[in-house]
Amino acid sequence: MDFDVIKPLLSTNATSKILLLVMDGLGGLPMEPGGKTELETASTPNMDKLAESSMMGLHQGIRTGITPGSGPAHLSLFGYDPLQYEVGRGALSALGIDFDLQPQDVAARGNFCTVDEQGRVTDRRAGRIPTEISERLCALLLEKIDIPGVEIFLRPVKEYRFLLVIRGEGLKAEIEETDPLILGKEPFPAKAMNPGSEKAAEIIREFVKQAKVILKDEHPANMLLLRGFAQIPTWPKFPEAFGVKSLAIAMYPMYRGVAKLVGMDCMPAAHDYEEEFTMLEENWDKYDFFFLHIKKTDSYGEDGNFPAKVHEIEKVDALLPRALALDPDVLIITGDHSTPSLMKSHSWHPVPVLFYAKTCRPDTVTSFGERACLQGGLGNRIPAYELMPLALAHAGRLEKFGA
Ligand code: ZN
Repeated sequence: MDFDVIKPLLSTNATSKILLLVMDGLGGLPMEPGGKTELETASTPNMDKLAESSMMGLHQGIRTGITPGSGPAHLSLFGYDPLQYEVGRGALSALGIDFDLQPQDVAARGNFCTVDEQGRVTDRRAGRIPTEISERLCALLLEKIDIPGVEIFLRPVKEYRFLLVIRGEGLKAEIEETDPLILGKEPFPAKAMNPGSEKAAEIIREFVKQAKVILKDEHPANMLLLRGFAQIPTWPKFPEAFGVKSLAIAMYPMYRGVAKLVGMDCMPAAHDYEEEFTMLEENWDKYDFFFLHIKKTDSYGEDGNFPAKVHEIEKVDALLPRALALDPDVLIITGDHSTPSLMKSHSWHPVPVLFYAKTCRPDTVTSFGERACLQGGLGNRIPAYELMPLALAHAGRLEKFGA
């Protein structure tokens, strides 16, 4: 999205409300030829009824044929072209575990790995050690590593993966990865890609040097690899860029993290969907834009559990009247990407969108499903990052361009 175009058009006195309801991994596929998708199978009387007065269609998160990760897919829904606004993987890792990354921090994704006596990598994942071992090793390293002038944070993530953050003055993250990516090679030294990153690279090299000694008698995790060095990006913030006071409601840290990254306020983790909708109701008067995230549609898709994914969609449909009772000016119901149960993974397939507003031009679609959405007024491949400007327009928040 071209923020420079939107900014001068933002109306200053609008009081309208926009709700973006994201069922993660919503798009699906039939389990057998001629069958129905998860969304088509789900009984969704409330969404179907709303479809009658909405514009329907399918969106594409990144580009044609590209399977999105949830981070970039959400950025796209928030109006940021994910190819233009890339988040480093280290920063994404930090967001994923609720680590409060500061602008001066350099974050990296770490792997505990196994090396032989010559220091050559024999297993990049250290036999997929359980998270508890990773926890112990992170604590051990934190206790023993001593590098003056910087603060070091280490957090176990999952199994052999951890997060490393270094905090100090004048750190930059353009640093080459230490992971050789193939077996039989020694880890690379962390090399700065430019003079500005030399200070951080030197700290990383010292960190790795000390870690090597501390881990040498451990087994199988006797060494570590670092990838995806990154800092918090300095992008236009969502509330200013779109002129909306914004609130994120999400149960998982990763989604609160992405919302925080673009400057939205975040509610603490809710325990279930009901509580998420209660948070929406309780905060309705305080904000202009709401992002409400539903996670389990994606999780069950990843598990290949078609009926469970259907059931999650039905649970959200049953809660929809509570959102409608708030009378949103614009309501978008969609996913961030497809996660067909058939594939047990994210996929590149376009994602169904229901776009409700009082100013919608009618189309002929009267139900919410992949096939039906192909006939919708939004088209069957609208870039996800164009939904935000469209929402602003339908919410009466954009003045005209030129006289
Ligand atoms: Zn996702």
